[in-house]
This record gives sequence, structure tokens and C-alpha cells, in this order.
Amino acid sequence: MQRSSVQFVWLKRDLRLSDHRPIWEACKNGPTVVLYVFEPKLWAMPEMDRSHFDFIVQSLEDLSKRLEMIGGRLAVRVGELPEVFVEIGSSFHVTALHSHEETGNGFTYDRDLRVSKWARQLGIPWFQYPQNGVVRALKSRNGWADLWQKRMTASVTPTPKQIAIPNHFDWGRLPEAKELGLDVSQKTNLQVGGETNANETLDSFLTTRGFHYRKGMSSPVSAHQDCSRLSPYLAWGCISMKSVYQRLIARQQEVREAPAGSLDSRWTGALNSFASRLAWHCHFMQKLEDEPELEFQNISRVYDGLRENDFNQERFEAWKEGRTGYPMIDACMRALHQRSWINFRMRAMLVSFASNHLWLHWRPTAVHLAKHFLDFEPGIHFSQCQMQSGTTGINTIRIYSPAKQVIDHDPTGAFIRQYVPELANVPDQYLPEPHRMPMDIQSQVGCILGRDYPFPIVEHRQAYKSAQEKIFAIRQTSAAIDDSRRVFVKHGSRKKRDPLLKPKKTSEFIQQSLFDRFEDP
Ligand SMILES: Cc1cc2nc3c(=O)[nH]c(=O)nc-3n(C[C@H](O)[C@H](O)[C@H](O)COP(=O)(O)OP(=O)(O)OC[C@H]3O[C@@H](n4cnc5c(N)ncnc54)[C@H](O)[C@@H]3O)c2cc1C
Repeated sequence: MQRSSVQFVWLKRDLRLSDHRPIWEACKNGPTVVLYVFEPKLWAMPEMDRSHFDFIVQSLEDLSKRLEMIGGRLAVRVGELPEVFVEIGSSFHVTALHSHEETGNGFTYDRDLRVSKWARQLGIPWFQYPQNGVVRALKSRNGWADLWQKRMTASVTPTPKQIAIPNHFDWGRLPEAKELGLDVSQKTNLQVGGETNANETLDSFLTTRGFHYRKGMSSPVSAHQDCSRLSPYLAWGCISMKSVYQRLIARQQEVREAPAGSLDSRWTGALNSFASRLAWHCHFMQKLEDEPELEFQNISRVYDGLRENDFNQERFEAWKEGRTGYPMIDACMRALHQRSWINFRMRAMLVSFASNHLWLHWRPTAVHLAKHFLDFEPGIHFSQCQMQSGTTGINTIRIYSPAKQVIDHDPTGAFIRQYVPELANVPDQYLPEPHRMPMDIQSQVGCILGRDYPFPIVEHRQAYKSAQEKIFAIRQTSAAIDDSRRVFVKHGSRKKRDPLLKPKKTSEFIQQSLFDRFEDP
């Protein structure tokens, strides 16, 4: 019997129907199976969490409804790849495989190689389409920002009106979390996946919430509400970067054209800040695309051995559990465990504290955070973790004072008291450094240091000084300066044909860089 022809659309981190080029291209050519595969080996990785699973399932449920509205259906399998393709392919004649390009981790990279081999052996063309500003096989970073702009302003891919599906296909079902060995989640009030929620989140940010963006983004008290909160939707592809960018541009125009006095002028600054962050998203992912090794290795190899051999498990456990004796660190970690999101500044502080104060190598701390970030995006995540750890060779070394972060961003302790209840009654003035509380006040407020809340795990000034000395001892060497140049040529953001000066200090590279020198206010 002749096998009927189908094309596969293989869903990866692109769980939407709008602006979905693989679905659009496949639909034009006959019966299409839009397939999501839960790969047990991927789910067994320490970066993956039940919260990611729930978010993906919610997104697939939303996508499934959208496909059904145009006559399509969602196919689901649990299994490794390419084995799943082999199994389905045995009953059908697969004429093409369509997917987006993925800037993933080492596992997804190796799996893509296996899929590619399978497709080649069977003569099945595999069409991979870009899905954001990341450029595959990029030759040079010169002018990358212009390429990004060009991609973001190109037309959005149309949504098909009709999708043909094969007869007699086993569409499968969404698995239970336990089938992939995932624990019950302790997290509450997480963002819910899906294209519908992605659009609502973007709309509410662009029309109401975004107004306070610039002022509110740095504090964990306000950021939850004032940041866009688009990150998990972008990470799992519930909305495309191009759609977000084009809606932002439309909103910027609306703000520009609004009659004087009808809109607060702060909208202009807020929308501009948001626009730069969208470019950062792809800028950081481009680094992993160009150098997949940075998931595991220091970007600047002169820093190899800096911390790797000094790993202190006890300190790591205290950091992970939010019991370092530094209220802002502990509150952020515990908040993250509950809500799976924390703002940029607090992420940077958590990593900087682990890498500098506790002198922990960035790789294990990055894996712990990846598990707890609902928006885990390998390209952004590993680059950022290295950046905050001083191993990139082209970024400023930032070592935060956790006490100062309390004074600047949670002066009344609203955030700390919520997540570290042991400190609920500690007076504001002692919250940055509870160990400075006199004994009688400790007794009065029911928080005895060393019993109810730990003493600081390390002394801030000493730890700061020691980290700075060790990093700067390497940073000043000619080998470090030479390597900074190499890193800057490979990963630095710069305008088209910016002359590459020959800096004498690594800090001069930072001055030349467009996207690598940012801070939040
Ligand atoms: C150590 C560390 C790890 C990080 N890991 C991730 C990660 O795994 N996934 C992730 O999406 N972001 C990561 N970030 C970047 C940033 O913290 C988050 O993107 C942001 O907090 C998400 O919230 P939002 O969507 O409300 O951001 P908004 O401030 O509203 O920004 C809008 C979008 O711009 C992008 N963006 C914002 N800030 C950055 C940035 N500094 N670098 C790159 N892109 C940015 C994101 O896609 C974000 O959704 C990390 C930052 C640090 C310091």
C-alpha cells in the first residue's frame, strides 16, 4: 500500500501560531503534522523543572485550540529524537521537516546533529528558519545591530487560514509530569503559558503597566509589576520577538503623536528602555550561537582555574537555600523558588554574590538558577552568569553590596519581610545588616542571630577585597588583555565597521561595546 505524504513541523521553543514560518511554509504544501516531542533525556537535565513543563503544557493547550480553529491538530509524543521521527516516518512518506533554528544547549545541539543525519539519510529536506535576531553562521559582529533591525522590521509571517492534516494519524496526548519523572511543584502564582497570555501581557505592559518601567525595574518590590514579564513567553516562543518589536514601534508612534499633555512624557523613556532590552535578548543569544562552549567554559580562557578548585559545598547549599545571613540575597533566592522570576538587578546580585563573595564557580550556580527561572534561555543565561562572574574579559567587574541593595531597593523591607519571615519584626534600620542589631533588640523582636537567622556567611568587605584582588591579578596581565581583544572581536557589539582599537586595558573594550556595558538605573 502506498504511504500517504506528510510534512512535519517540529515545534521547539516556538509554541505559537502567529508569525510561525515553519507552519506557514508547511501548510502551503499539503498535509501537515505539527508535532511537539517531550524528550525524557532533556527533561532529566538538572536545568529542567516542573514549572517549565507546566508552562509548556499550557502553551501547547493554547496552540492546540488555535490549530483546531483552522482545521489542524497538535501531535504529541514522548521519546527521544530522531527515534520518534523514525517511528512516525515508518507509516508515512515524510516529504519535508520544518522547524525554527534553535540556539539551545549542548544536548539540543547534539540531538539536532542526529536529526540532521536521519533526514539526510532518508533524503528528507530539513528547512530551518530564523525566529529572532540571532544569525546562524555569522561571519562577523560588525554591523550586527543593523541586521537585527532589518529582521525585526521585516513583515510578520501570515497565519494560515486552513491547515490540511493526514487521515488516520495517531495524534497522541499531552503527558503527565510524572511520566517524565518531574516532582510536584511547590511554586505558586506562576505566569501561565500560551500565546493568548503572551499577547495580554504585552498589551497590558505597553498600555498601562509599562509607564513606571524605568523607575520600577530595579527594585524587587516594584519590578514584578512594572517590568514587561514577557521573558517566559519569549523564551518558549509563545510570541515572536518580531511581533513584540513591531507592537512596540506602533505604540512609540502613538505616544509621539498623542496630543500634548494627553500622555505622560515618561512613556517615551520607558518604551526606549524596553526597545534596547529586546535587542539585548538576541545579542546575548548570539554569543551562545557563535560559541556553544560558553555553556561550560569560561568565555575568556585566561580565567580558567580562577574558582574551579575552590568550590565550597557548604556555601553553595546556604546560597541555594537562602540562608546566607544577607537578607536581600536570602529573600531573592526564596522569592525565586516560589515565583520562578526575579528582576535583572537581583539576578545579577545573586550571581555576583555567589561568584565573588562566596567564590563559587559560576557553572553550578548557573544550573541552579536555570532550574528556577521560568524564562530559562541558555544563550542569555550562561552569558549573563559569566558576565556577572568576571570571566568574559570584556565586561566591568560588578560586585554588589547586598546591604546597599536593601537601602536602595527595599528600604522598608516589604520584600524581605515577605520572603524571610524570621526578619518580619526587625526594625528597618537593621534590615540591611541584622547581625548589627543589639542583643536586647534581637530578644524584643524574636530574632536571635545564629538561632533564628544566620550570621553573615562571609564578611562583605573582606570577601569583596579578596575577589577583586584575585580577578584583577589576572585582568592586568598581557595574556588577559590579548584575550579580551579576541573576545571582543568575536562577541562584542559594535556598529558597522567600527575600528577595532588596540586597547591597553580591558576596560577600553567595554567603552567600545554597544550592548555589553549596560546597567539598569
Ligand atoms: C544572571 C542572569 C541570568 C539571566 N537569565 C535569563 C534567562 O535565562 N532568560 C531570560 O530571558 N533572561 C535572563 N536574564 C536577563 C533578564 O534578567 C531577564 O530577561 C528579565 O529580568 C526578564 O524579565 P522581563 O521580561 O520583565 O524583562 P524586561 O525588563 O521587561 O525586558 C524585556 C525583555 O528583554 C529581554 N531582556 C531584558 N533584560 C535583558 C538582559 N539583561 N539580557 C538579555 N535580555 C534581556 C528579555 O527577553 C525580556 O523579556 C538574566 C539576567 C541575569 C543577570
